[in-house]
Amino acid sequence: MIVNSERAIALTCPACQVIQEHPFSLFTISRQPLQLLCRCGFSQGHLRKLKRNYELDVLGVDGDRVRLLLSRNELIRTPLRNIFSTKNGQELGYIGSPEAVQEAIVTGSRDFVAESGDFANPQIMREILAMLQDLAEQHKIRCECEHPSVGIDIYADKVELVCAFCGSMVVIGASTHKHQERLSRVSEIIMEPCTAQYLEEWLKPLT
Ligand SMILES: [Zn+2]
Ligand SMILES: [Zn+2]
Repeated sequence: MIVNSERAIALTCPACQVIQEHPFSLFTISRQPLQLLCRCGFSQGHLRKLKRNYELDVLGVDGDRVRLLLSRNELIRTPLRNIFSTKNGQELGYIGSPEAVQEAIVTGSRDFVAESGDFANPQIMREILAMLQDLAEQHKIRCECEHPSVGIDIYADKVELVCAFCGSMVVIGASTHKHQERLSRVSEIIMEPCTAQYLEEWLKPLT
């Protein structure tokens, strides 16, 4: 198998809020760290080789420091990986092949612009999505069926978690403060196979 050593990482800059792409080669990065310098002059951090892994040490969109370890395999073989903050689940950017990263920047930003104007309450929707992201990162969203594969469908005023395997679905309202508050008390979302349920009926609060 031929391994292409050309990779790219794209991160949203906390200073200018623009997503900045940084191409790099796996060969050069093993000798010296890649400094992630934005076009605006802000230094976001670095990506460097750390024993058998690669360490990403950057400032996230809201200025929090985020440190992630990527395995060698992950970096070499995954065509595209989303990078999320380990602190708040916020999406920071992408890493992968230069083509895939480029495409993700183009389609990703276009989607966001198209969608955010359609939300009943963009602020609430953002909070709800961030909370769901957080739960997903901690593996706290799952379906109890044989081959769980939970995806997310976003509408103007609600979010649906859908298991692609069994069709189980959870509907989460995402337009009022009450919706936001309700979800903030949820510590885990476990979907029952093949049934549609509403969040408020059965999700267990933290306490
Ligand atoms: Zn910048
Ligand atoms: Zn399922």
